[in-house]
Amino acid sequence: MKPYMEMTKEELLALKKELSAQYKEFQTKDLRLDMSRGKPSTEQLDISMGMMDVLSGNVDLTCDDGTDCRNYGVLDGIKEAKELLADMMEVAPDYILIYGNSSLNVMYDTVSRSMTQGVMGSTPWCKLDKVKFLCPVPGYDRHFAITEYFGIEMISVPMTPDGPDMDMVEELVASDDSIKGIWCVPKYSNPQGISYSDETVRRFARLKPAAKDFRIYWDNAYTIHHLYDHDQDHLIEILAECKRAGNTDLVYKFASTSKVSFPGSGIAAIAASQNNLVDIKRQLKIQTIGHDKVNQLRHVRYFGDIHGMIEHMRKHADIIRPKFEAVINALEQELGELSIADWTNPKGGYFISFNSLNGCAKAIVTKCKKSGLIMTGAGATYPYGKDPNDCNIRIAPSYPTLSDLVLAMELFTLCVKLVSIDKILAEKKDKE
Ligand code: PMP
Repeated sequence: MKPYMEMTKEELLALKKELSAQYKEFQTKDLRLDMSRGKPSTEQLDISMGMMDVLSGNVDLTCDDGTDCRNYGVLDGIKEAKELLADMMEVAPDYILIYGNSSLNVMYDTVSRSMTQGVMGSTPWCKLDKVKFLCPVPGYDRHFAITEYFGIEMISVPMTPDGPDMDMVEELVASDDSIKGIWCVPKYSNPQGISYSDETVRRFARLKPAAKDFRIYWDNAYTIHHLYDHDQDHLIEILAECKRAGNTDLVYKFASTSKVSFPGSGIAAIAASQNNLVDIKRQLKIQTIGHDKVNQLRHVRYFGDIHGMIEHMRKHADIIRPKFEAVINALEQELGELSIADWTNPKGGYFISFNSLNGCAKAIVTKCKKSGLIMTGAGATYPYGKDPNDCNIRIAPSYPTLSDLVLAMELFTLCVKLVSIDKILAEKKDKE
């Protein structure tokens, strides 16, 4: 098949007729397929069911240091959980605080605290005329939702295959002291599945922000979420790199076990410098007496240590990998030669980023929906839900079964073809 752009109007119309018939056929199938959110599948949740057994019966819930997990206390998390999460986050246990069940919650709290209390003694953001955040795009919709909720102005920064455009980041943070933060998903990013290069991480650690309360929001949600055993991305550890650069307090690092154990019932944590941790704890001790230590202990007893966790992640990978490969195969087979789209091919994480011709993403998502396939809303990967080129669609392959996914990709690629043909025909008409 030749690229659509090279086809004549007549060829395109003939193809459209053929593809429309296929689409009608799909509409009669009453499909209910969902590739919208990065949720683990039921099969993945099943592999963690052993966690339900480790604390059953009359088991002793005492920590090594004598802490009774059934009772109040231990604001920053039990020692065993700090060790486990610290290994997962590649920092020393002294640099982390264990939170509750969600890292997104921690990020929200971090922004909220900065709004009302300020950062390490600086003016609370709510008292400033303007507060801005840099948002690498496409990015994670729920990050953008937090900053939008607090009325923080969002400035889009384009992503490159190496991470955010660092020339732009450096210039903006150095020149504008109302810029207080940047959202980053540095490893297997949401939605591209790319990892920041060493140079990008080094440049992040060496930023010279005009605002002393500027922080990098380093959301390392996919830190151990590899698809392959022998082809994995590795990041320079950002806390250590900031320290080496003399910028010790520049970063907050977030992570959770949501996609290791159970989303919504995992453990979240923040890693940061001692100064930042003191600042955070001043607020945290007002907010809570302590988080769920029973769940912390459950995770520790189940995984044992980081090696247990890595082994567990291999089981996730075995389930997810064929799904990613099915999506990539379908895209390559159906769209590979047509020059109407491009996409990423990640080695980990939960997403694939798909770009259609400009002005087509919304129409593709709508067309999918009309036949029973739910995709992430077009525009969701941009601040305020507005993709200026209307081209980006996030594909989340994890949740459907493999057979549903194959069907969903058949329908998705069909919708991409149909919408692209309409777009090209409309452009040809304009030129006539
Ligand atoms: N950060 C990123 C980049 C994510 O993709 C997700 C989940 N989709 C989260 C955070 C949410 O994490 P949690 O369950 O720990 O709140």
